[in-house]
Amino acid sequence: MIDYLNLSRVTALHGEEIRAAVASVVDSGWYLLGERVHCFERQYADYVGARHCVSCASGLDALRLMLRASKEIGRLHDGDEVIVPANTYIATILAITDQRLTPVLVEPRAADSQIDDSRIEAAITPRTRALMLVHLYGRNAMTPLIANLCQRHHLLLFEDNAQAAGGDTGHYGTAAAHSFYPGKNLGALGDAGAVTTDDRELADTVRALANYGSSEKYVFRYQGYNSRMDELQAAVLTVKLPYLKAENQRRREIADYYITHITNPAITLPPADVEHSTWHIFPVHTPQRDELQARLRQSGIQTMVHYPIPPHRQQAYHDWHDLSLPVTEQLAATELSLPIAPYLTDDEAEQVVEAVNNELKD
Ligand SMILES: *Cc1c(COP(=O)(O)O)cnc(C)c1O
Repeated sequence: MIDYLNLSRVTALHGEEIRAAVASVVDSGWYLLGERVHCFERQYADYVGARHCVSCASGLDALRLMLRASKEIGRLHDGDEVIVPANTYIATILAITDQRLTPVLVEPRAADSQIDDSRIEAAITPRTRALMLVHLYGRNAMTPLIANLCQRHHLLLFEDNAQAAGGDTGHYGTAAAHSFYPGKNLGALGDAGAVTTDDRELADTVRALANYGSSEKYVFRYQGYNSRMDELQAAVLTVKLPYLKAENQRRREIADYYITHITNPAITLPPADVEHSTWHIFPVHTPQRDELQARLRQSGIQTMVHYPIPPHRQQAYHDWHDLSLPVTEQLAATELSLPIAPYLTDDEAEQVVEAVNNELKD
């Protein structure tokens, strides 16, 4: 049986070091707002190439804090429109509506599932203030046209970098949100997230908001949140960060192997420029998605769907049910994610290819 993602195997890649780091936090008696968080923030800022990194409790919180801080310092206002890919994970949309901003859903390209930059300009209105770029599946979604549109229309550029840790992303715009959810490419042993930015005022505001709205003990400037990364997660992430490049390289090797060896004509593969993604997810497309998934399960290969129901079809956003987003819906109906992880052996990757090539033939 090949699991879609086996987190024990992810942790076991650096098991001893992680256990030692956890034990040292347990023994230290210091669990929040300490040296380990500070140290991780410094290292992660350098890694991303940003001046500031402010850690927080999750990727969703990082998105919310980044937007809320932008409002507090006067760069965004209630009701402003934020352009966002229609096929993103729901968290991107939740953060935007949570901050009383208006998501404007733009269709992705069918070829690589990233926001279709040729459709962005038509979505811009006098109320548009920002674009939330999502590097979905780990693929770099930035394009020269996006940079040009942001400049010409004075749009703030935010990045949802949750799926692209270790990619050359997260430094293009005003700020980026990162997730260290256990299943992400840089995963903690629980929830954790961060905002990176070059903007000192934005960073200070995010930090205060994540700590009850306070930057000075018992003085509250904002009606804030409690959203802090704990020392335990920071210690684990500090152990794992130096391995991220090599682990993403292994994901690229596997992606390259899949792309060059999957020859099943019923299956559409992702673009072959493997350097362009961190391969958080390896998506394939086929009209017989559910059948392929069931057959692979019988062959001992577990797969997932990212994501079966797009945000505008969710009960949480029932007002949007009438929107026509055919590319988004087509991708949701045909996507299947094959196992991809840094621990996957050559033998396991071969088994996946063999099973995929042997299905849907009749
Ligand atoms: C995982 C994810 C998030 C949310 O991160 P959490 O840490 O789970 O809150 C946001 N956006 C995208 C695209 C994600 O994949």
